[in-house]
Amino acid sequence: MQGHARAGRGNDGGNTSSGTEAHSVRHDWRLAEVRELLKLPFADLIFRAQQMHRHHHDANRVQVSTLLSIKTGACPEDCAYCPQSVRYDTGLEREALMDVAAVVERARAARAAGATRFCMGAAYRSPKARELEQVAQMVGEVRALGLETCATLGMLTSDQAQTLKAAGLDYYNHNIDTSAAYYEKIISTRTYRDRLDTLANVRAAGLKVCCGGILGMGESELDRAQMLHTLATLPEHPESVPINQLVAVAGTPLADAPPLDPLEFVRTIAVARILMPESHVRLSAGRSDMTDELQALCFLAGANSIFYGEKLLTTGNPDVEHDRALFARLGIEPEEGEAAPSQSCS
Ligand code: SF4
Repeated sequence: MQGHARAGRGNDGGNTSSGTEAHSVRHDWRLAEVRELLKLPFADLIFRAQQMHRHHHDANRVQVSTLLSIKTGACPEDCAYCPQSVRYDTGLEREALMDVAAVVERARAARAAGATRFCMGAAYRSPKARELEQVAQMVGEVRALGLETCATLGMLTSDQAQTLKAAGLDYYNHNIDTSAAYYEKIISTRTYRDRLDTLANVRAAGLKVCCGGILGMGESELDRAQMLHTLATLPEHPESVPINQLVAVAGTPLADAPPLDPLEFVRTIAVARILMPESHVRLSAGRSDMTDELQALCFLAGANSIFYGEKLLTTGNPDVEHDRALFARLGIEPEEGEAAPSQSCS
């Protein structure tokens, strides 16, 4: 396995700690430790990820979210991977912010298909007051259906985050995308610091955080390690950590990005699981390009959340029936939602 440590270190997969300590939640990870984990022999890495996963989660349950694009395209930002940027000619059809009633209808359908969380994504740099008001209304009505709610609307001030919290929002998605160093090759219209500030505003409002990144954008292994290190050393780990695989869309600057080795993708999932043991690690964009066998490996590595059904923002997603069949083949049950009866934009 070129580029990775060759020797196993006994039957503990190189894990010299034991018991509670080995499974504890840490926020003091060193970058060198993250890099060592990424380089472990594959079997040792998966073994450690499985141990961690089983200590903190039911290994045969996967949380299921549905993502709806409530406002599509015409985004002023220049994220190099994104077909929704107004700067790239991708043939994407723009759609204005949806009516509240139409969103609620889609949420009802998602609930009927087994989703427990409904994520509403809008292609904004940051929402304007009237837009935020409309989204807040959607959030309240979707939550009243007994679904957990998540939104991704770009940058948020602390007041905006508090408005969404008051409306009943459970999660806010805002990805860091990649390492701080590689970030400027991907986005020039806002800074890494802006991203971290939004995450802090979201936390301060009492919202749960959904934050991860995208692999396969031409980044190095070091960039992947740094991205994971940033996430794992936040004051609180994001409750959801989406790990996306680039969907290379014609017309975007990353249209010809060389594909990532799928095993590197699995390694990143496994290391995310070890670093952030209580988080839900989500297989997100790019899943429709993955074989069932690769998805199974990702679940084995500790992924325990997927998007299901509805189109994943503007790129394809395997249909509900296929996902159900895959769950049945793997003996996986959907996780129950947390909401009482009553998540790519980034
Ligand atoms: S990822 Fe989000 S912020 Fe970036 S261009 Fe796309 S819609 Fe806009």
